[in-house]
Amino acid sequence: MPKLRVCALYPDVMNIYADRGNLLMLQQRCAWRGIGFALEGAGFGEGVDPGAHDLFYIGGGQDRDQELCASDLLATKRDALAAAADDGKVLLAVCGGYQLLGDAYALADRELPGLGLVDLRTHRVEGPRLIGNVAIAVDLDGDGRPRTLAGFENHAGRTVLGPGARPLGRVLSGHGNDGRSGFEGVRRGNVIGTYLHGPLLPKNAWFADWLIRTALAIDELDPLDDRLEDAAHAQARQAAGI
Ligand code: GLN
Repeated sequence: MPKLRVCALYPDVMNIYADRGNLLMLQQRCAWRGIGFALEGAGFGEGVDPGAHDLFYIGGGQDRDQELCASDLLATKRDALAAAADDGKVLLAVCGGYQLLGDAYALADRELPGLGLVDLRTHRVEGPRLIGNVAIAVDLDGDGRPRTLAGFENHAGRTVLGPGARPLGRVLSGHGNDGRSGFEGVRRGNVIGTYLHGPLLPKNAWFADWLIRTALAIDELDPLDDRLEDAAHAQARQAAGI
């Protein structure tokens, strides 16, 4: 029986907006299919074994939470996460976690170092926070048939992708990375960053399954009854004309 082995980074600190619901969603969708599920946490001072997990997860956090984690991430987890990413492991980072994937998160008077796994930079502005419901179009399989991700964003940071980075998706509604580029999130291989809370996965069952499939290198999963979710997404696609 396959087993999804998940490692949550700083689960007690980086979990604003009930982002822990993302882990529950993965667990439940595995359980419904008879797929095993193991969850480990990695907190301050703890290293991670890149080969021991299929999916790494870091949720959102306030600036002060990110500040607590940033240097520890670099000191105790960076090399392992880079190795895991190079090996095709899935790394999902939401909001505050997403901001720590790049080069740096610049606050008014100091800069938090990032993991440097993707080419992006985030700076905090004094202007309005970018808050609200958001929908994006994503083409994860590159087949020209974009699907929608729905969520909720609330961030002061503006994220700008460097030339070496490509966005996760295109904003259909809401603000996205910086409120003006039209881009949302980032993707490098199986490293995915996004501002979407919600939590993200309960609102986007298809994406939870994409993560499970990708992490376990399974072509297809047993179908579940997602009629309600699919109908909601179909309506969003219709409204957005995609
Ligand atoms: N502290 C970050 C910001 O305000 C991230 C917030 C979050 O995770 N919701 O931009």
